[in-house]
Amino acid sequence: MGRYVLLRHREIPDLHRLEVYVRHGGYEAWRKALTAMSPEQVIEEVKASGLRGRGGAGFPTGMKWSFVPKDVFPKYVVVNADESEPGTFKDREIMEGNPHQLIEGALLAAYAIQAERVYVYVRGEYRSVARRLEAAIAEAYAAGFIGRNVLGTGYSVEMFVHLGAGAYICGEETALLESLEGKIGHPRVRPPFPATYGLYGKPTVVNNVETLANVPPIVLHGAAWYRTMGTEKSPGPKIFCLSGRVRRPGNYEAELGKITFRDLIFGEEYGQGLLEDGRTVKAILPAGASAPMLPASALDTPLDYESVQAAGSMLGSASIIVLDDTVDIVWAAYKMIRFFQHESCGKCTPCREGTYWLRRVYERIVAGRGRPGDAELLESIARQMAGKTLCPLGDFATSPVLSSLKHFRKEYEAYLRRTIEAPVGAPA
Ligand code: NAD
Repeated sequence: MGRYVLLRHREIPDLHRLEVYVRHGGYEAWRKALTAMSPEQVIEEVKASGLRGRGGAGFPTGMKWSFVPKDVFPKYVVVNADESEPGTFKDREIMEGNPHQLIEGALLAAYAIQAERVYVYVRGEYRSVARRLEAAIAEAYAAGFIGRNVLGTGYSVEMFVHLGAGAYICGEETALLESLEGKIGHPRVRPPFPATYGLYGKPTVVNNVETLANVPPIVLHGAAWYRTMGTEKSPGPKIFCLSGRVRRPGNYEAELGKITFRDLIFGEEYGQGLLEDGRTVKAILPAGASAPMLPASALDTPLDYESVQAAGSMLGSASIIVLDDTVDIVWAAYKMIRFFQHESCGKCTPCREGTYWLRRVYERIVAGRGRPGDAELLESIARQMAGKTLCPLGDFATSPVLSSLKHFRKEYEAYLRRTIEAPVGAPA
């Protein structure tokens, strides 16, 4: 076994080609499951591995699979390849460099829940990635790994790629399912969760790309092997997407909990420090725009789900954006709010109206027309949204507001002190 479990293409040239993948142990887990394991055994192995969903929520994968009813058909596996969180670009690298490991993982998930169809929902902007994936799927069909009566075992499964149209909301699993059904990508009320009521109302497992790429090595080498990596509660490897004011942005695979933000940003084999000498870290966004930003005092937090949560944020999809002391935090929060306001689907009022009003207030603050009490106003709008929206997007939108106000309130005050009293009747 090389240095990588997920980004193996970095060591093995042309791994995206079936022949190369097979030469390096590819589809052995698939063969093993089909010939020597029952669907329940596959679920049990994944459960025992402790694998947690890599889309962001960290929900136990084996447990999700076990919620799927055994006696309802048809069933589906849907691969969430809509990665749209700002700063998240890990699934893209897997699909481009190591697509067969995702395909094999999705097939194993399908077998485990006895699904007859797999849909891979790829974000609209990833057109070339989708083509790469389609080529890999075609190769797997031709080799008999997908299709009717796979490897003569009597099990049949189909796999299709579906390209989205570039909406952030369609990464939310129920909006994704609506979109896949040909409807507007609006989230559904949960529960029921997709495990029982998913695509076309049928039991559906929705898993992120990186999550599924973990499954073939788990099935092949076993849960005990997998647990030698990471921590007790966050086992296994993880891809960390590093971006922002760092020298060497990119994807880095490391064991969960074994490196800290500081290691990732400054380590020689990772980010190699800040972009300019003499600068300092001002804030860290651990999960793109969606999770609360952390101050530099969190630099020594280990990168696993529990530790980042204990530090006051979420590891989420592990898209770590670094802001140094050149960055204006109010401006950064404004940029994030613009993003959320643009991406709000408009279905529920607190998110639609809340993101709109947050944007309006930020606009006047950064334009130097903020009013006394605007910091409190932002806080009040965000608090009226949090926990009151249909899907997590509304909650996410409050993160940059509330966390920047918590850690960097002085920057807001400086803006508001500079403010010239707006004349009566001036546009807000
Ligand atoms: P969630 O915790 O509500 O659910 C996580 C998963 O577990 C879902 O698949 C859900 O169906 C399943 N689940 C939870 N409880 C269940 C139950 N009782 N029965 C059956 N299944 C159950 O989280 P979420 O709202 O799906 O996702 C939020 C996460 O998405 C955030 O952590 C955020 O970081 C992440 N996110 C990622 C991206 C990206 O581009 N990767 C973009 C935006 C958000």
